[in-house]
Amino acid sequence: MTVPAFAARARALVSRSALLENLAALSGRAGVPLLLPVKADAYGHGLEIVARHAATSPHVWGFAVAVPREAQALAALDLGKPVVLLTPPTPQEVPALADLGVRLPVATLAEADALPGHARAHLKVDTGMNRLGARPEDAVAVGQRLAERGVLEGAYTHFATSDEPDLSFAHEQFRRFQTVLSGLPPLLAHASNGGGILSLGALPGMALARPGLASYGFAPPHLRGVLPLRPVLSLQAQVTFLHDAHAGETVSYGGLYTAPRDLRLATVGMGYADGYPRNATLRAHVTVRGERRPVLGRICMDQFMVDVSGLDVQTGEWIDLWGEQGITVTDVAGWGDTIEYEVLTGLGARVERIAVP
Ligand SMILES: *Cc1c(COP(=O)(O)O)cnc(C)c1O
Repeated sequence: MTVPAFAARARALVSRSALLENLAALSGRAGVPLLLPVKADAYGHGLEIVARHAATSPHVWGFAVAVPREAQALAALDLGKPVVLLTPPTPQEVPALADLGVRLPVATLAEADALPGHARAHLKVDTGMNRLGARPEDAVAVGQRLAERGVLEGAYTHFATSDEPDLSFAHEQFRRFQTVLSGLPPLLAHASNGGGILSLGALPGMALARPGLASYGFAPPHLRGVLPLRPVLSLQAQVTFLHDAHAGETVSYGGLYTAPRDLRLATVGMGYADGYPRNATLRAHVTVRGERRPVLGRICMDQFMVDVSGLDVQTGEWIDLWGEQGITVTDVAGWGDTIEYEVLTGLGARVERIAVP
């Protein structure tokens, strides 16, 4: 790692112990090792930090990524664990991915026939998500072709509603998947995402499970008590300027907020370009010296202003935007009219990711 010449104004502290505890708990409930999704820069946590820590876990079989560039970045880390690509490569990308040892998703006979002999394939079965994969009635023929060619390692499907209270469609999807599997030789089957593990528990015949957001510490509201998951990422940003606003003055773009009295304001080095949702304007709060304080006026591209009246705050001080205790990503996502997935994966490149115990 090269040391940057200038310090970041926002930092994400990524807890190794929280990650490893979540992985152990999820693997325990699923009854199988994990194919850990590290797509989208490990849900914004930093691919390298997460993959290096997770690779030390006995509960992690391998890593799942969305796109070939992520597979390449992971292969370069040489962690000694399989990498599975979840979305279709272009035909031109297949040979190089196979050479890197990346497991490839296959949905059609044409894709099966085009794989080099040293490739390893995971048959993708579309049991109802209608996003990717072979329809159940076509999937067995594709899987058999892969088996004949000696490249069939796994098969998987993806639940559309496993994080919803009504699980009837998830059960139907799993039944369709089992029917396909019954027509194939033994292989590494995987279906559950985090919602599936929390709601359905161990599923018969599965060899792996793929919890994403749950690995990073979050469960859907109705499944929060199922496992003691810990948020992995705590976000902090620096106070870059302190100043006074007088009663009756407005703060930030559009003059949306008027100071009801004289206020002490801290300007903070985090904005929507760093992933703090602009829609959280007039709702957001942060924690300053242990106190919950409001963000005042519009959230800007690179900064926002916080009421620190009565607090002895210094320039350069780190304040807490979210973490394991106090304000959480769930709160910020709610203020921003979005979901934890979008807030975390939206964390920008200017936010430094730092591994902590
Ligand atoms: C993203 C993804 C997952 C992980 O989903 P979570 O809801 O974060 O648990 C699992 N499987 C596939 C195919 C995915 O695309």
